[in-house]
Amino acid sequence: MSQQQPAEANVHAYSPDKHPGRLFLVTAPSGAGKSTLVNALLAKQPTIKLSISFTTRDPRPGEVNGREYHFVTIEEFEAMKARDEFLESALVHGNYYGTNRVWIENEMAKGHDVLLEIDWQGARQVRKRFPGTVGVFILPPSIEALEWRLNHRGTDSPQTITRRLLGAGAEMAHAPEFEYVIINEDFDTALLQLEAIVTASRLTYGQQALRFRNQFANLGVPV
Ligand code: GDP
Ligand code: ADP
Ligand code: 5GP
Repeated sequence: MSQQQPAEANVHAYSPDKHPGRLFLVTAPSGAGKSTLVNALLAKQPTIKLSISFTTRDPRPGEVNGREYHFVTIEEFEAMKARDEFLESALVHGNYYGTNRVWIENEMAKGHDVLLEIDWQGARQVRKRFPGTVGVFILPPSIEALEWRLNHRGTDSPQTITRRLLGAGAEMAHAPEFEYVIINEDFDTALLQLEAIVTASRLTYGQQALRFRNQFANLGVPV
């Protein structure tokens, strides 16, 4: 099987023919199950690269610097932003979050599939840079379920939970900007649906033509 080889790493400008990997955006109101679903997806599909964001929020119990996030001070964050080190950044629930621009560009240049867990503001910014991103919005089955999950996750103070619940409606108002929506009621069903989206997005004509250019040519199929 031949595979289109990616071009050299570290390209600044996006060019689809040199970037056969797909960029997945996963967005949800806090507590919908986004991180749990993404971690389960990556356990099954380890070739997808997860972007580790920078954030100014405090680590939760059990979070490890460099694993869930790179935890930085506001001063460090602002300095990184001034140096144009973020592909996108946003203020979410009172904390700053930003995506590592050089890391993403290198991974995309290598042809890897990359997944970003970012909010709707970041998703909008990334789409402008990378047309053809695949956006997935995760919804909870109800506001009550969202509240229950945030409380039972046991990682946030009551004030933080209230703030996140109050922000849920504003986040969900942006669901129409995404190609796909999953209602995370039964976890296993939601995970199957997320995997189906990944599989389907790898099978579009454009992706297949990139990946199987030689076979297409041998078959006389236009590329
Ligand atoms: P969670 O919502 O309970 O997972 O709590 P987090 O503190 O991990 O994330 C809070 C919000 O920030 C979520 O909406 C995330 O999608 C969003 N977020 C995380 N990383 C980034 C990032 O790099 N950029 C942007 N724009 N949003 C991010
Ligand atoms: P997010 O990343 O969207 O903030 P998490 O992945 O941290 O959400 O999930 C929030 C909580 O809900 C976690 O305790 C998780 O175990 C739980 N959870 C996730 N999906 C489901 C589900 N389908 N049913 C019940 N609980 C769930
Ligand atoms: P292999 O070529 O060894 O079967 O697949 C290597 C990796 O590429 C696996 O993670 C697989 O899921 C992924 N992959 C398989 N088919 C496609 C495809 O059509 N497009 C993209 N972008 N990745 C694919």
